[in-house]
Amino acid sequence: MDNLHFETKCIQLQTERTQNREHSVPLYLTSSFVFNTAEQGAAIFKGEEQANLYSRFSNPNTDEFIQKLGALENCAAGVSTASGMAAIYVTFAALLKQGDHIVAAKAIFGNAHYIITNILPNMGISYTLVDIDDHTQWAEAIQSNTKLVYLESPSNPTLKIADLSYINNLCKQHNIIFAVDNCFASPYLQQPVKFGADIVIHSATKYIDGQGRVLGGAILANEKLALQCYDFIRRTGASLSPFNAWVLSKSLETLGVRMDRHCFNAFTIAERLEQHPKVNRVMYPFLKSNPQQALAKKQMKLGGGLVGFELAGGIKEAHGFLNALQLHSLTANLGDTRSIATHPATTTHVKLSAAEQQAAGIQPNFLRLSVGLEHVEDLWADIEQAIK
Ligand SMILES: *Cc1c(COP(=O)(O)O)cnc(C)c1O
Repeated sequence: MDNLHFETKCIQLQTERTQNREHSVPLYLTSSFVFNTAEQGAAIFKGEEQANLYSRFSNPNTDEFIQKLGALENCAAGVSTASGMAAIYVTFAALLKQGDHIVAAKAIFGNAHYIITNILPNMGISYTLVDIDDHTQWAEAIQSNTKLVYLESPSNPTLKIADLSYINNLCKQHNIIFAVDNCFASPYLQQPVKFGADIVIHSATKYIDGQGRVLGGAILANEKLALQCYDFIRRTGASLSPFNAWVLSKSLETLGVRMDRHCFNAFTIAERLEQHPKVNRVMYPFLKSNPQQALAKKQMKLGGGLVGFELAGGIKEAHGFLNALQLHSLTANLGDTRSIATHPATTTHVKLSAAEQQAAGIQPNFLRLSVGLEHVEDLWADIEQAIK
């Protein structure tokens, strides 16, 4: 299986089927598993025999999902979680302790920012936030007690790219765990482990499901780190439900074809927005005008499905644009088949202070499009009429 292409692995990797010889993955809706004998129950509890015991610990559906995703991310092990936020929180809570320090990029998912700046300090864990593309800031933020570096690339919502190799070198010099939220790229576009990352985090709710149906998340890593996260989850309960795992395992089969279309549509719209007189600035990793284009191309196969842009005007114009859209949904999700438009300053990133928004590059006129799988000409016609 190792030498197969990504698209083939997405489809052909599966756990062993039952005596019923299902072609597709069966669904195991059961909270617990029976023991053949009292002695076997005792052996399983002792860890002498490996078997499913209780679905907070493991289940054939979560196993299949995580084994497949781990293979796609080139990680030896992993654990699935109830949501992307659960994956982020568990990574911090399982691996950090009082007195530790974390360095993270300023522009990250709103609730990840909240955990780092509001929850971790209550646990005695301090932080430094840096501009994702400033090498000096990354280097200067490292302290003797820095235990973990955390970032998203491309970042949310301004689509800045982190230089993964550079940051990984810093981490390895100082014996720091390097964790990357790979949600915006998906493993089809980028595999952070190839650039040295120790932990890959996913909100499977986004491109991995890709159809706006279920929440889910994952932490992929080496055996040792994954086991620490797994132990934390099986005791504290942020496990993925078997049903969601079943949905997500099927979703991975179509990840490659969906991402190709997302990226084609998004690139086309980014290029056209750039030509529009009422658009001040467009952020898309693979645009020629993007100063980070070369870095993005080194790390990613294609530019992704998200486009950021600044419309001439302020909040009023940005809200006017959203209200005029007909094909794009106004909703908080992303990575769906359906196109979505978001105003981060007043929704996803509203918890950030004005100064923090400024630092994260979120202007009042900034809009984010999650470009879906509709025909690109229909999407562009909708955007054009809404800008008018
Ligand atoms: C949505 C998102 C999350 C949180 O995931 P949930 O599944 O909604 O909990 C984390 N990181 C990024 C980059 C996201 O877009």
